[in-house]
Amino acid sequence: MIRFSLFGIPVEIQPFFWVVTALLGGATYADSREAFLAVSLFVIAALISILVHELGHALTGRKLGGGYATIMLTSFGGLAMNQGGRFTRHQRFLMIAAGPGAGFAFLLVIIVILSLIFGGADVMALTSRELFGIRMPFRTNELVDFLNDKPFMHLFLGNLLWINFWWGLVNLLPVMPLDGGQITDLYVKPQRRVFLIGLVAASAMALYGFLKMGLYPGFLFGFLAWQNYQNMKSVSWQ
Ligand SMILES: [Zn+2]
Repeated sequence: MIRFSLFGIPVEIQPFFWVVTALLGGATYADSREAFLAVSLFVIAALISILVHELGHALTGRKLGGGYATIMLTSFGGLAMNQGGRFTRHQRFLMIAAGPGAGFAFLLVIIVILSLIFGGADVMALTSRELFGIRMPFRTNELVDFLNDKPFMHLFLGNLLWINFWWGLVNLLPVMPLDGGQITDLYVKPQRRVFLIGLVAASAMALYGFLKMGLYPGFLFGFLAWQNYQNMKSVSWQ
């Protein structure tokens, strides 16, 4: 177990965080030094991105309602808690939205810094290639040469862009306990309906995951669908 403190907020990283993140990064196929390094870079990129996200929650919570803020990284990503804080519904919304908000702001900062160095057009070309697989022509060779010279930097930047964009979007799906689900829970009553929405959205994602993205996203959303179904059965319609 690793424990440290960031901006006065205690952070705890459980052993399973490393295991699951390494598996997500392709640890099962890492049979060479280069492949092992690539998995390590993915884990570092995920660690930084999740910490930024959870700090968004925790720092906003501390500013709005006080409480004792902590961050925990587990096998299912991160968790920020504000124990003993009292929040209105609007404050809760801000606190939840601050996580994905911090991630998207971090993404923007990376893009702006790269644009200042290599020019906006080429950074747009890189971003659309890394995020959507769209191949736009580069105007100069500067960025391409830089990335070819430093393949691991290329991989690391690609991971940072990908994680902060796609994980950020997926996390906004209306599925409990993702941030999108928690926002739904603030505004949709009765709570049974929140879990019903979660069940439908997670089932659709599980199907899409198995068909298009691979086993892990399929299983993850299959598990969330099952969890939402169990919760739906246990709360009343009132
Ligand atoms: Zn979050």
